[in-house]
Formats: sequence, C-alpha cells, structure tokens
Amino acid sequence: MIVDVKDAPQKAIRIFDRLVETFKEQNINPSPLNYYVWYQYVKGNIPALRQEMDAILNDPFGYNDRVGKRLYDTYLAEKEDSTSEFDRAFRRLIDAMVKKMNAWSDKLESHTQQLDECSSELSNPDLNSEDIKRITDSVISAASSIKEGSLNIQNEMIHNAEAVKELRKQLQEAQAEALKDELTQIGNRKAFNNAIEELMLEAENAPESLAMILCDIDHFKLFNDTYGHLVGDSVLRYFASIMQKDKTDNETICRYGGEEFAILLANSSLDEAVERAHQIREAIQSAHLKRKNSSEPLKTITASFGVATYRGDYEDAKSFIERTDKALYQAKNSGRNCVIDETQIPPESSK
Ligand code: GH3
Ligand code: MG
Ligand code: MG
Repeated sequence: MIVDVKDAPQKAIRIFDRLVETFKEQNINPSPLNYYVWYQYVKGNIPALRQEMDAILNDPFGYNDRVGKRLYDTYLAEKEDSTSEFDRAFRRLIDAMVKKMNAWSDKLESHTQQLDECSSELSNPDLNSEDIKRITDSVISAASSIKEGSLNIQNEMIHNAEAVKELRKQLQEAQAEALKDELTQIGNRKAFNNAIEELMLEAENAPESLAMILCDIDHFKLFNDTYGHLVGDSVLRYFASIMQKDKTDNETICRYGGEEFAILLANSSLDEAVERAHQIREAIQSAHLKRKNSSEPLKTITASFGVATYRGDYEDAKSFIERTDKALYQAKNSGRNCVIDETQIPPESSK
C-alpha cells in the first residue's frame, strides 16, 4: 500500500482519470513524472506552469519527457504546496524517481569520461599489447556498468509505473467507497447527485427519456418501533436487494435518505418507469419477511412511489427532484402502497 488515499479529493481523482485517457490519446509516456507535471497543470494552481504548458501544447510535438523534466525542475521540484494525501503520495513517487535518474546520469557521465580517455589513449601509435589489453578491459567494464545501470533504471521505471497504477487503483476504490451507502451497499445520496447531473446533461436533447422514481417505505417508524432498529436495517437491505435484482444498465439506484430510495432511468418513458415502480411495489408487498433467528413472520412491508420525467430546457436537478417528490407525497396522501406519476398530481399542487 503506497498511501491511504481514502480522503483523496474528488477533483484529484477526476483529473487523474482524465489524464490516463489523455496520455493514451496523445501518446505521452505514462511516467510518474509526466503524470505529476500534467496533474499540476490541469489543477491550475501554478499560473506560470499553466501559461508555459498552454504555449507548449499549441505545438502538437511540443511535449515530451525532456520538456516534462524541465517543467518539473522549474516549477515543481522545490514547491511544498501539496496539501492533499494524493498530492503527497505523488510527490514521494516523483522525488524517488528523480533522485534515481540524477544518480544514474552522474554515473553515466563518469563512464562516458572513462570511455573518452580510452579513446584518446587508443590513438597513441606506441601502444604495446599490455596497454591494449588494459584499455580494452576498461572499455568492457565501462560498457557493462552502463548496461547494468540502464537495466536498473529501466526496472525502476517499471516499478514506478506499477506504483502509479496501484495509486490509481486505490483512488478508484476510495472513490467507489465514498459513493456507496454502508448499510445497503448501493449508491448513496452523493452518487445520486453525481448521476443526476450527468444524466440530465446527456438527456438535454430528449429530456423526457430520463425518468426518476422516488420511493419511501410506508409506516417504517412503526415497523422499527415494533421490531427494533436492527430488524428495520435488514428490511432496508432487503428492499435494496429487491430493487437491484432486476436492475438494467439504464438504471442508477441509490439510497436517497433514511427509508427513501431513488432510481434514475435513462432512455425510459414515464410509462416504463411507472411500470418498473409497480414491479418493485408488488415485489416488496408480496415478500414473506421473517425474523432471522426465530423465523417469526414479520408484518408486510409496503412502499409508496412517485414518478416523473425530466423537462429539459435547463430545468435544474432540484426542480426535477421536487416534482418527483410531489408525486411521492401524493402517493402517501392517496393511501400509500401505490404509484403516482406527475400527470396525476392535482393542478393546485403542481408547479
Ligand atoms: P410514512 O409512511 O409517512 O413514510 O411513515 P414513516 O414512519 O415511514 O415515516 P417517518 O418519516 O415518520 O419515519 C421514517 C422512519 O425511518 C423513522 C426512522 O427510524 C426510520 N429510519 C430511517 N433511517 C433508518 C435506518 O437507517 N435504519 C432503520 N432501522 N430505520 C431507519
Ligand atoms: Mg421518509
Ligand atoms: Mg416512510
């Protein structure tokens, strides 16, 4: 484990993921140093670096490893502005690599000098066989040392590239963890917020193809009061599993809050979403819940559902959620255990 990146900021994760793609597209060597330079460039906290990179990137062949190293030395090597755990992990990796590279380049210089000396000695016309043997040995030893050093540095690069991969994996895991609801293991409110913004953008040209279902378990307080919170928790887990069971790739299912869940359905009409809500409603209503230890049957659980589709025209997420929530509210007022869609909301309570 390189570092605990549980608290890695979302922004860092997003930048890093985007960079992996950019590097592939633009054929940039995915070395830790290049990642670090680009990461700081995109992050944008160092205006001079940003300016210089902008100019370099105007030329399609403007960026290469050498340019990266120079930018690192100029803008990043001495800076201690890294505040996040992610930045620090990256810094450690780069510093270690740069040290190795510098040590290697010193060594290479001394070997090159040694070879130059051999070369000038060889131009002496009065060499005897002893001299030639000595010079040849010296050339062989310099050459094998260079080869060994270059292998070492190559291994070091591979090792560092693996460390970057590991860092990326950790970041992705941390990101997934941050978007998961601990109790039910489905997406949490934050995952919902991320998804709705993304899906609304995607659906801007066909807004009614994005639907939302909000559902809320009926009289759940009473259920908890009767059987206790722990049994209530199992019911929440069970409810989540029922929704997950028939989940399609078009659906994003999240725990919206306490005993409320939300489903976003891309490429779905209002009628299809209503049908999906009915399917879940029936599944939970017909479940035969039992207490785990004693198999004592538990009261039937029901839930109420509100369904709406996105209006587009830059309707914001808040308004889309509020309209769906109104339908849910109407479902509660209509006796619970039912599905109400936005077309069934009485005019005085619709916006
Ligand atoms: P309604 O039909 O109007 O929705 O009634 P309700 O009792 O479900 O609604 P209310 O908002 O009064 O109560 C919600 C209950 O959900 C209260 C709370 O104890 C329970 N709840 C919320 N989160 C959790 C949880 O994580 N675990 C358990 N066991 N219960 C929870
Ligand atoms: Mg509620
Ligand atoms: Mg409730």
